[in-house]
Amino acid sequence: MATGLNKGNKNLSFKIKLIFSYFLIILVLLGFVAFFLNRNLEANLLYDTKASLISQARLVESQIPSESLKKEDAADLRTLVKEWRPKIDCRITIIGNEGKVLIDSERSREETLCMENHLNRPEVKQALNGTMGVDIRYSSTLKIKMLYVALPLKDKDGTIGTLRLALPLESARRTLFAARKIIFMGLFFALGLAIILGSILASQTIRPINNMIRVSRKFAEGDFSRKMIRNSGDEIGELAVALNKMAEDIENKIREVKAQNQKFATILSSMIEGVIVVDKTGCIISINPAIEKVFGVLDKDVEGKLFLEAIRNNDISDIISAVLKRGGSDSSELSLVWPVHGVFQVNAAPIFDGDKINGCLLVIHDITEVRRLEIMRRDFIANVSHELKTPLTSIKGFVETLLEGALEDKEHNRDFLRIIQDHAERLDNLVNDLLSLSYLEAEETEISKKDFNLWRQAEDVIQGFKTQLKKKNIKIKNELPINLSIKADKNKIEQVFTNFIDNAIKFNKENGYIKIYGQETKDNMKIIVEDSGFGIPEKDIPLIFERFYRVDKARSRELGGTGLGLSIVKHIVELHKGNVGVESTEGLGSKFWFILPK
Ligand code: ADP
Repeated sequence: MATGLNKGNKNLSFKIKLIFSYFLIILVLLGFVAFFLNRNLEANLLYDTKASLISQARLVESQIPSESLKKEDAADLRTLVKEWRPKIDCRITIIGNEGKVLIDSERSREETLCMENHLNRPEVKQALNGTMGVDIRYSSTLKIKMLYVALPLKDKDGTIGTLRLALPLESARRTLFAARKIIFMGLFFALGLAIILGSILASQTIRPINNMIRVSRKFAEGDFSRKMIRNSGDEIGELAVALNKMAEDIENKIREVKAQNQKFATILSSMIEGVIVVDKTGCIISINPAIEKVFGVLDKDVEGKLFLEAIRNNDISDIISAVLKRGGSDSSELSLVWPVHGVFQVNAAPIFDGDKINGCLLVIHDITEVRRLEIMRRDFIANVSHELKTPLTSIKGFVETLLEGALEDKEHNRDFLRIIQDHAERLDNLVNDLLSLSYLEAEETEISKKDFNLWRQAEDVIQGFKTQLKKKNIKIKNELPINLSIKADKNKIEQVFTNFIDNAIKFNKENGYIKIYGQETKDNMKIIVEDSGFGIPEKDIPLIFERFYRVDKARSRELGGTGLGLSIVKHIVELHKGNVGVESTEGLGSKFWFILPK
């Protein structure tokens, strides 16, 4: 409302300014014209009046008999004046040589006798000197402004008197007043016309400007659908074209900026790395979805808040403060426990505006997996070295013993060699298992699936363990359906059976049993290898499939185990998109199972 009023006032004032300019120009111009016209009119009018009075004076002068004047014959002169007075309609005065008024058309005889001497009248003075006298002055006799013309009356001896004609300037003044009235009325009319024409012209000038103001307001609101209308080819038309071009450029720029913002937003939201942007005061400008997930916050809730208020992490807050203070980049590693558990690499860099620090950009990279793999690799190398070292130390020890003379000891040398052979076998097993594992872990490992009878395969594996089974007098039952067919990598599934049955024998009691059976669901096939062995303590169950994890290291080694069997099984089953597991009760036995999708 206020804006509207304001707008109205501005338009009004501009319009009035325009009308006022026209008015002022016309006033000044006509004022000059009126001033000069008035001055010339007055001068011309006076000149004409004077000229007519002179010619009338000359006419009367020629009629005055010089004898009558010389004799100062008033009666004669009065007759003459009486005769001429109505003809020329002005005051006629005849003055003697001494300045004495002889006759005055406006006075009676008695009054004339009382009139004062006119010798001092300027026009009379001049006439008595022999030339024509003219004067304009206020007449004390008639109480009005008069024009006086005095002619010398001469005979052969010189000037004998003066004829003076006087005309009130009243009629000239009236003529002048009438002329002035016409001039001023003209001026008034012209000014009125100037106001009307000015307001029409101003409206026409302002209309396109108003249109431009309306359209520019729309531009300012971001609506570029309307365009300025080019009504004329003048400067205003040119301005409309220039503003349209400017609006088009701005619209294109806005579109470009929007597209770029969209691009950045897409990049930010699809980034695995978390991104935080804070301003120079440490308030959050934006965060991406990765950060939302790591810190359990939402962009809309944290935007505009101080970092520490929104995300309660002192380490990152300190990094931000340091970067904003020093202006250099920073990089550090931090561990989070809540809301996610992990290790993160934080890279912070200042955002500059010219040479001033305007904010800080943080990129947070989740390196939990990298660190876990590093630890795993380290542990793995330590484990492998340890596993290799034990048989190697033994082999080295026994070889040294043999070399130092035990070779000649016919009674024991073969035992020593057998021990060396055992350790060499263990080394061989270990290296084979390591090779299998690394082969399975290699990403490019492919499985070649084909249909085969699972019962048959289990039977074949059991055949291979006949001696071991007999040794411990273990009963084994293959309760898988005879015609159970499955589509999988035959060799690898054979290794799964081998490892499970091998363990079931190794960690079984004398006279124990092993049972192999299956449970079929709509999508999966679960194969269980159950034994009546030592079982696994509950605390070890979650770790049993990890590399080199053994419940009883000494016993496993003694039994020729490498600690890699179950982890090989796990890899094989996972390659088939299946999973493995164990249920066990310490002292009673275990049920190792693997599930394969059909
Ligand atoms: P190993 O070469 O020692 O057999 P595995 O990876 O096959 O290595 O097994 C890891 C550990 O799991 C074994 O050392 C043993 O402690 C335990 N284990 C495996 N199978 C059984 C089982 N059937 N009964 C009891 N313990 C078992």
